[in-house]
Amino acid sequence: MASPLEARARALISRAALLDNLTALAGRAGVPLLLPVKADAYGHSLEIIARLAAESPQVWGHAVAVPREAQALAALNLGKPIVLLTPPTPQEVPVLADLGVRIPVATLAEAEALPAHARAHLKVDTGMNRLGARPEDAVAVGRRLAERGVLEGAYTHFATSDEPELSFAHEQFRRFQAVLAGLPPVLAHASNGGGILSLGALPGMGVARPGLASYGFAPPHLHDVLPLRPVMTLQAQVTFVHDVRAGETISYGGLYTAPRDLRVATVGLGYADGYPRNATLHAHVTVHGERRPVLGRICMDQFMVDVSGLDVEQGEWIDVWGQAGITVSEVAAWGGTIEYEVLTGLGARIDRIVVT
Ligand SMILES: *Cc1c(COP(=O)(O)O)cnc(C)c1O
Repeated sequence: MASPLEARARALISRAALLDNLTALAGRAGVPLLLPVKADAYGHSLEIIARLAAESPQVWGHAVAVPREAQALAALNLGKPIVLLTPPTPQEVPVLADLGVRIPVATLAEAEALPAHARAHLKVDTGMNRLGARPEDAVAVGRRLAERGVLEGAYTHFATSDEPELSFAHEQFRRFQAVLAGLPPVLAHASNGGGILSLGALPGMGVARPGLASYGFAPPHLHDVLPLRPVMTLQAQVTFVHDVRAGETISYGGLYTAPRDLRVATVGLGYADGYPRNATLHAHVTVHGERRPVLGRICMDQFMVDVSGLDVEQGEWIDVWGQAGITVSEVAAWGGTIEYEVLTGLGARIDRIVVT
């Protein structure tokens, strides 16, 4: 139902940017994508991204981190496979199997316990040391899954594919290939976004799992590999415009003193929405095409911006980050963190809106 009550911040989700990124990534990987839509699609909205991506012939399926995400995705009935990436509890396994969710398996006990109609992806730990069967145990688990008729895929995860030094990523891939050689043919997958950008097409793979890259970001040393575009433009509303006199302080703690008379816009976005509080005294936003500083402490629900000399009005939308101007990468750096954390931290008060 339409309501006259507006959100104070909105994330514009570009359909074209997403679909172009997916095409570019699938092209470089040489295989279709198992698109990670975990953590509300990296803050972009699971439902919006999964629906848009389902239009793309480059997308084989969707990957999620936790069972509830799998359940939410299954309820959308998009007709694409859903792969769960972390271990379910024994009680969750039959529920997920009934939903058609592909289940990660790392042990013989898990392989035995799967219902006969389940579909499994063997998880192989080639060096991340987070999840999966060690390579020396993985073949037996995979063979048992195959005997039971439930083996669909096998996968591993790179620990260092987004770093300049790739020898460990190559070693992980060799370990994975050795396991695959002991299994019947399966849908194999290894590369995350960093892997696709740095390693390109890998032999024997059936799909690839680019997360952050699908949403438009590459590590600095891989910027030029593909023309990825940020999918999200984050905007926030000006809730108040006022004058502050030279010598007065702005916001909590009085950290910032106005060096001269200023025109100040108060903006309806804060750390409760995921805008990093640690960006205080570094942050900038884009107002009328100009880069303008955020003044003083970032608050829970608001921050203040120097709009001196600009004709800014209450109710206007300003760009916090987007395709032009300020990037999430800059905001993350100001906050002492990474794009992943900034995007996945975006809160429920922000509207997500699809644009072309
Ligand atoms: C999150 C995740 C990905 C995606 O990683 P990006 O670095 O965002 O490309 C791929 N595979 C697994 C197992 C993951 O957990």
